This record gives sequence, structure tokens and C-alpha cells, in this order.
Amino acid sequence: MIPYEKAKQLVIARAKLLGTETINIEDALGKVAARIVRAPLSLPPFTNSAIDGYAVKSEDFSGAGEEKSKVSVRLRLLAEQRAGVFYGGTIRRGEALKVMTGAALPRGADAVVPREEVEESQGYIEVKRQVKKGENVRLAGEDLKKGQVIIERGTVLRPPHLGMLAACGFRQVTVYRSPRVAVLVTGDELAQPGTSLRRGMIYDSNSTLLQVLVRTTGARLVAAKRVKDDLKAVITAFERAAAIADIIITSGGVSVGDYDLVKAAAAVLKARLVFWQVAQKPAKPLAFYTLSRRKEPVYLFGLPGNPGAVLISFEEYVRPFIKKVMGWKDYEPRAVEAVLAHEIKKKKGRLNFWRVKLQMEDGQWLATSAGAQESGIISTFADIHGLALIPAACDYLAAGTKVKVHLVDW
Ligand code: AMP
Ligand code: MG
Repeated sequence: MIPYEKAKQLVIARAKLLGTETINIEDALGKVAARIVRAPLSLPPFTNSAIDGYAVKSEDFSGAGEEKSKVSVRLRLLAEQRAGVFYGGTIRRGEALKVMTGAALPRGADAVVPREEVEESQGYIEVKRQVKKGENVRLAGEDLKKGQVIIERGTVLRPPHLGMLAACGFRQVTVYRSPRVAVLVTGDELAQPGTSLRRGMIYDSNSTLLQVLVRTTGARLVAAKRVKDDLKAVITAFERAAAIADIIITSGGVSVGDYDLVKAAAAVLKARLVFWQVAQKPAKPLAFYTLSRRKEPVYLFGLPGNPGAVLISFEEYVRPFIKKVMGWKDYEPRAVEAVLAHEIKKKKGRLNFWRVKLQMEDGQWLATSAGAQESGIISTFADIHGLALIPAACDYLAAGTKVKVHLVDW
């Protein structure tokens, strides 16, 4: 059994980039840019109107006086211009052009008067206020200048980045390649949800859990299979998975039971054991292997079968590993410091992950246990905010003790 910190370090040390891929921007959310991107054009590409109104020459207002009640400027309306249509003409003194938001500002005009402030009749408009140069005009390049860096290498692509790429006309973006993940769930007792349940069987929740967890990381799920507790079946499943995946995640069969065959199958395939058993609760039997089936290594996370152990192992080990492989620099769980709302008693020797809810009180986070903490219990995960790390060395924490809480990222 190794300490949590050591196990974590052994996993993270093996997380390496997988090269790059160029993908459509709408598929790039949460991926990491592998190249610097510069704006190929200025934004906006042309000076345009910020509102629905009338494009005018501000000099037509220079002699109109300052006193508000006396201002009245009458201009001849040339035409109407909608967004997306380019008006080729020039506005001269005494003229105006009706424009919609986003329409290019016509040559000669330098301001736009809001529609609400103008009276229009019989081909003329009347403006009863002063108009200053530049009013309601969006200048070409005021958002982005051509050639400006819009995305640095290593940026985690968020909705605004992807919108910005689209605004610059990009269809695709080059990112670090997402790992391909195969999920293998072991257990003779597992029944497919949606079918009837024979006595002694339970519904397989880990297949669903792992599939959706993988999806939240942006990794590519390439297989999800239920495997019988049969050595040959597990070996075959491993071989098939290793041929198509960078990461294999198994659930169950990694403990010390008679039908715990993940380790036996890994040994037959000459997988290299990095560690088995971590001084933590839940998920003590967690195993981690590397396999070299193809040119690149394949990583095998052997998660214990209990759903609580699956959720915690995924958040603490698998998700940070996947994030780092995908190029995230910030791959560790987000952490906050909280004070315990109540005491906690535990056995010494293993770090405990305590499911907690958080609330802000007097400027600090207060952590309250979400209920039962056993690894077989899934219901108490439903509304948690995070996992409090209760150190291995202690067996009692009084109410008010400060603890570190890893926020869950699902
Ligand atoms: P194991 O590690 O295979 O001994 O499994 C430990 C516990 O987790 C047993 O009670 C299993 O029935 C349960 N378990 C294993 N796999 C699943 C699964 N896919 N869905 C729900 N429970 C499971
Ligand atoms: Mg089992």
C-alpha cells in the first residue's frame, strides 16, 4: 500500500502529450490550443453602425447651436441600408442614410443618430439634438487588429475563444490530441439497466458512470464493454481495448476476491504494475499499469468495483491524468479550504475522501458531510460540492478544523 500523494505522483508523471490534431471549432470546447493563433483580419472588418438609426455627417450639426430646445437639423434621406448590404454611395452635406445595426458606415458619414431620436417624413429626417463625431460608430479593428495574437498556445478553449475563432473566420483549430479511452466493466453479477433483475444480480451502474465521466473530460470513448469474471474473457477484452485505446479503465475485479481477475489478466499480458493498493478510503485496491501493445504506451487504471470508489478514483486520478495528457496545465482538482461543520472520526492509516456539501458562512466555506461515506453507497454523491481530504495520520478532527476540499468537476 502506498500513500495517496505517492500514487498521484506516479500517475501524473506518466501523463504525456499525444501530439496534435486539427478539429472543427465546435468540437474544441475544453481542448487545449497546440498553436498560437493570430487574427487573419481586423474585427470588425469595416467601420459600422452600432445601432438602428441614421448615418449623418457631424459637420451638418456644427452651426445648429448649443441650446437643446432650439436645435433642429433637416437632412435629405438618401436610401436605406440593411446589415450585410454595402452602400456604395457617399454622404454629402445635408444628407443622411438610414442604417441598421451592423451595416457598414457609408463614405462621408461619421456618426449615427438613433432611430428613436429622429422624425422621418417624405424623404427627409429631422434631428432635434446635437450630434458628435463618432457617436454610435464601431470602428474597424476596435475589437481585434489584424495580426494580433488571439489565442496563445496552451489556452484551454472556452466558449469565448471558440466564438472569437469563428468571428475571425476559422473553421478549425489545432489542439493537443484527446486520448482514446476504453471502459471495461467486470462482474458476473451485473445486469444491463432496462432489463429485469434476477435474484442476486445488481444493475451495472459503473458503465454509465464511467462513460459519462469520460465524456465530461473531452476524451474520446472508443469502447465500453461488460466483461464476465473469466480470465480468458478479461484477457481478450484487454487485448482488444489496447489495440484501439490510449487509456483503459476497468471497474471491479481488482481486489483480493477469488474472481478478481484484472491483475491476473494484466500479468498474462505482461503489463507493468506501477502500483496496486493506495492508503486511501474509498478505493484502496486501485491499480495502475502501463502496457506496451503498440508503439505508444497504453495506461490501465484498475478501479475497484464499488461505485463510490469509481467516482473518487476517477476524480482524483483519471481526470487529472486525462487533463494533463490533453495539455491542461491546471490538471489538479480545484481546491478550497473549508472548516468542518462537525467532528469526524476515522481510523488512522488511510486518507479518507469525505463527501461534503459546502456553504459560505462568515466569509469562509463550511463543509458538512453529505451522509454515509461507504464505498458501496452512491446516493450521498448526488448533491455534493466536493471531497474533503481527511489526512491519513489523524483519527479525529474536531468541528471547526480546517480541511482541504477538492471540488468535484462533473
Ligand atoms: P469487486 O471489486 O469486483 O469485488 O466489486 C466490489 C463491489 O462493487 C461489489 O459489491 C460489486 O457488486 C460492486 N460492483 C462491481 N461492479 C459494479 C458495477 N459495474 N456497477 C455496480 N456495482 C458494481
Ligand atoms: Mg467483481
